[in-house]
Amino acid sequence: MPEGDTIFRAARTLNRALAGSIVTHFETQLPQLSRVDHDSPLTGRTIEKVEATGKWMRIVFSGDLILITHMLMSGSWHIYRAGERWQRPRIQMRVAIHTKDFVAVAFQVPLAEFHTAATLARHRSVQSLGPDVLAAEFDPAAAIRQLQSRPELEIGVALLRQSLVAGIGNVFKSEVCFASRVNPFRPVGTLTANELGSLMNHSRKFMLANVTDDAGDGIVTYTGFRRTTGRTDPADRLWVYQRAREACRRCGTAILSRKQGEDARTTFWCPQCQPEQPG
Ligand SMILES: [Zn+2]
Repeated sequence: MPEGDTIFRAARTLNRALAGSIVTHFETQLPQLSRVDHDSPLTGRTIEKVEATGKWMRIVFSGDLILITHMLMSGSWHIYRAGERWQRPRIQMRVAIHTKDFVAVAFQVPLAEFHTAATLARHRSVQSLGPDVLAAEFDPAAAIRQLQSRPELEIGVALLRQSLVAGIGNVFKSEVCFASRVNPFRPVGTLTANELGSLMNHSRKFMLANVTDDAGDGIVTYTGFRRTTGRTDPADRLWVYQRAREACRRCGTAILSRKQGEDARTTFWCPQCQPEQPG
């Protein structure tokens, strides 16, 4: 699943290319979208802005029309210059928004809906998002209160719950727990204020580090000597994620992995640095 930082970067790229431009052509393979386009055409509208909220991308058009998409596991937005060859087959195209200079293409997005400001305000999944880790106004204390409202959840599950705190995905979940020396299977209620504060600080720090313009596509949380080897294997740039049975970069103990939560997302951790019973 794309993490919040991926969506944030994609939204920023789309915003730079599209904001202020007029839609010259709109294509979609999604019946519910083509119905709206038929009734109130997209062509001729101005793209006012593109922004990310948690893992939702929203494209705001003039005349009170908002396109929201969620990538889930498979979706992605690409931006091409007019006439440029697409990097994925046309059959995977779900939405294409053309302007004079660019075309923004959503490939295989499973969730895409048109809204007005009023219907979006009633949208449950979008409106029930917790504090967004990447938002300028992110308030760690508010995020911690949200997490503490579910003391029974394992922290590795709670960090992925977008209604509690928005933007953290499966990679960052394991990485921030390691950086904070917190065992991901501990219930939230057993975590100290310092531990929760550390988790939120690392979440924001890691994700902000990955939305800089030169961050590239891979997620980097570990910047030790391995990075200078120029290897591109994502596992070489991370502390624990997808490093099961490899040596912990801090203590040398073998990293463990296990499925966690109802969604069975794989969690990686060091049993020595992140003991189940701290202290
Ligand atoms: Zn360790």
